[in-house]
Amino acid sequence: MSFKLDLLLRENIKNLHPYSSARDEFDGEGSVMLDANENAFGSPLSQPFNRYPDPLQLAVKQKLSGIKGVAVDQIFLGNGSDEAIDLLFRAFCRPGLDNIILLPPTYGMYEVSAHINDVAIRKVNLTTDYQLDIDAIAAAIDAHTKMIFICSPNNPTGNSIRRQDIETILVNFDGIVVLDEAYINYSKQSSFLPSLHEFPNLVILQTLSKAWGLAALRLGMAFASQEIIQVFNKIKPPYNINQATQSYALEALERIDTVNEWIRETVGERTLLVEQLQLIPQVEHITPSDANFVLVRLQQARALYNYLVSKGIIVRDRSSVTLCEGALRMTVGTPAENQTLLSQIKEFYT
Ligand SMILES: *Cc1c(COP(=O)(O)O)cnc(C)c1O
Repeated sequence: MSFKLDLLLRENIKNLHPYSSARDEFDGEGSVMLDANENAFGSPLSQPFNRYPDPLQLAVKQKLSGIKGVAVDQIFLGNGSDEAIDLLFRAFCRPGLDNIILLPPTYGMYEVSAHINDVAIRKVNLTTDYQLDIDAIAAAIDAHTKMIFICSPNNPTGNSIRRQDIETILVNFDGIVVLDEAYINYSKQSSFLPSLHEFPNLVILQTLSKAWGLAALRLGMAFASQEIIQVFNKIKPPYNINQATQSYALEALERIDTVNEWIRETVGERTLLVEQLQLIPQVEHITPSDANFVLVRLQQARALYNYLVSKGIIVRDRSSVTLCEGALRMTVGTPAENQTLLSQIKEFYT
């Protein structure tokens, strides 16, 4: 393979003079900050919100660098993973000319972001056991294919994609491989992060929205080569991560023990939920899950979904999604929530 970042990047991005913020333009320690038209008198809140936040979020990245074992200059932080996904399109895909490959059934945001950026989508379904169809992916690639999105563990199916197959794509595809590891904390399979240096075309997405319990903060992470991270930094909105998010994230990252305990509990509850679902005769198939949800194919899926809603229990109806026919996606809840879910499913079928 012959991956060359320069050949993939759009011309307008290569030639871009990025926005230069007030804080980018001096070196050293300032004590009288009169460069950014901030309110010098203060903020009505208890934190110094009158000052613009660090555009590169170095404190948060340093903390993450220690946790993830990845250098600070190989980390990008976005307003959710969704921002990283959008920036990838803007950096690499020429509207109306280039295309990307998606592997349904998978996370819906890749497709929406492609449409927003007017980038053509080539869909190659996963196999019936929700793995990569390597030959069909190879056949779908052409000279204008810029990115392939692989989600592992995959949403909405919950299974991990075989590592060997991901490596096959990484090694043979000259474009960017986006590996979305939003659910990696719940997986038996290990992250690709330790292998980042082996693959110059790999962009790994992770998030604080799931295992870290911070969906409302909106903090997504992308890990890649220094060169790719420089592209992200060049085109991102200057202050894309606000000060409240940076402060809270720093605080949260100190509490990794709590998060690890929740992960253990969630995985334990997932096992219990699956065991008890399997005892229900109308349950036809449960995809082995490496995530904090399970995809369950069962009889009368749509009717069950409506029944659960009427009881105030909201799961995700995936029954009309390709390869998920007749299936509902259920997030693993607290022990009490899971028992409520199970008893209402049984109630529906009696
Ligand atoms: C939930 C989820 C995300 C997280 O998105 P954020 O914008 O970071 O909240 C990313 N990818 C997948 C596959 C998800 O399911």
